[in-house]
Amino acid sequence: MFKGKKIFFILCRAGVVWGLLSINLAYGWGPQGHRVVGTIAESNLAPEIKKIIADEFNINNLADIANWADKVRRNRKQEKPWHYTNVKEGEWTYVMSRDCPKGNCVIEKIKEFSAVLANVDLPLKRRKVALKYLVHFVGDVHQPLHLGNRKDRGGGKIRLAYLGKKLTLHYLWDGGLIDWKRESLLKYATRLNAQVQDLEKSKWLHSKVNDWADESRSLALKYAYPLENNKLSKTYISKGREILDQRMVQAGIRLADLLKRLLKTEN
Ligand SMILES: [Zn+2]
Repeated sequence: MFKGKKIFFILCRAGVVWGLLSINLAYGWGPQGHRVVGTIAESNLAPEIKKIIADEFNINNLADIANWADKVRRNRKQEKPWHYTNVKEGEWTYVMSRDCPKGNCVIEKIKEFSAVLANVDLPLKRRKVALKYLVHFVGDVHQPLHLGNRKDRGGGKIRLAYLGKKLTLHYLWDGGLIDWKRESLLKYATRLNAQVQDLEKSKWLHSKVNDWADESRSLALKYAYPLENNKLSKTYISKGREILDQRMVQAGIRLADLLKRLLKTEN
């Protein structure tokens, strides 16, 4: 083999390995999913809450801060478990004493940061950080495999092929199942938000963080994990996309409502 050709070959292989590595390292909705959740939340915010977020925290669009928690996590290894909760295999609901005894998981972090954001006696800087975590974590807790099995690390250890690429089950449910290039993220979010009836939206609001987590757990066990021969059928893919769309819109609407409850006493 010519030297140039050989170097090219080595570089290509390195590229493939790197590609696989970065795919496997992805944890949490992909950046697109979090932006969609942030955009939907933003358009469901009450005007007075939008004003507080802009005036006091200098944030003009929740989508712009939706991926911050994933960025800082790269240098803060101890924060990795804050983004999910792994549940004991065979269990359908989250139990703190069993699944998150130290409070280092997404469900308990949402509660912790909610208390920080609502506390007007705390420094603004600290409350702003709490707000940035919340915008991200409310998205994460709605991803079914963020309530996956401890044993397979939320589907992170389950490998399969999709569109000619080797991926993990976790990555697919982080948004890998969705064709993001079809339209802009803003259009995607606007379309999802418009599809939901007001009645449905109000039903989704009568729930708490633990309910959101249990819904995710149920979807994980009913739809994400059952694979036939480790292969993705057409039905599996279309059902998966439908679930992901619904989870993103639910996360956005619930996030807007949570911020309203945490910030409404201000002014
Ligand atoms: Zn995350």
